[in-house]
Amino acid sequence: MSNLAKKHQKLSGLIIGKKNFFEADKVIHIFSIQKGIVRANVKGARRPGSKLAGSTELFTLGEFDIVKGKNLDILVSAHPTCHFENACGNLDNVSDYFVVSEILQKLMPEEVPNEKIYSETVSLFQALDRGCHKYLTGLYVYKLIILLGYGLDLGKCAKCKKNESSKEGYHINFKEGSIICTQCMRHSNLTAITADELKVLRFIEHSDFGKYSKINMPEQTAKNISHMVFEYLDFIYQNEFKSRRFANALKNL
Ligand SMILES: [Zn+2]
Repeated sequence: MSNLAKKHQKLSGLIIGKKNFFEADKVIHIFSIQKGIVRANVKGARRPGSKLAGSTELFTLGEFDIVKGKNLDILVSAHPTCHFENACGNLDNVSDYFVVSEILQKLMPEEVPNEKIYSETVSLFQALDRGCHKYLTGLYVYKLIILLGYGLDLGKCAKCKKNESSKEGYHINFKEGSIICTQCMRHSNLTAITADELKVLRFIEHSDFGKYSKINMPEQTAKNISHMVFEYLDFIYQNEFKSRRFANALKNL
């Protein structure tokens, strides 16, 4: 292999972040199949007439050629295959692109490939683009949490170990990563979850986006699950996701 070939790298990925850099450049964050999240400088992207500006917009899916730079990789060409932006004109869905991108950037280490998370993420973006139901992102986020190693132990009550479903429901102990049935519960500050909601979470654990995105459930169930998942996410991260504050403000308009 020549030196040049070694330095060149072709990545298939999705642009999940961008930042202005110096006077005319921008740095993009590509979530790629091959290398996970990679940062690359798009030189001159903010100059009028830049060839690369349009093909390196946020939420672009495509092929990207990068070369190793001294401190930062440099993008040399981009071939977009799809640009997620309108999500069927649904603002909630558009804001979910920002929410998911921020979660990935905050919870995933850079340059660690994870094909499973990549394919789940692209599937979600495609579904949002088609205008899917609004709580689907919450289900995806639970799958993401599992794939990142923070999945909850939902098999049986951590106290009495009974695994038949308790009609009165359960409570989730985020700190312990477990569930407690209502009969065993002593603290009232835990998040309540019904047996049906638990079933959905268990299903997500053992399936992928193509399957769990098709679960038929009442809107209230999806909404409760989504609420619980984001509460757990906040517990894991212990900090604020800025895009979520923005997304929630949009939803309350
Ligand atoms: Zn119990």
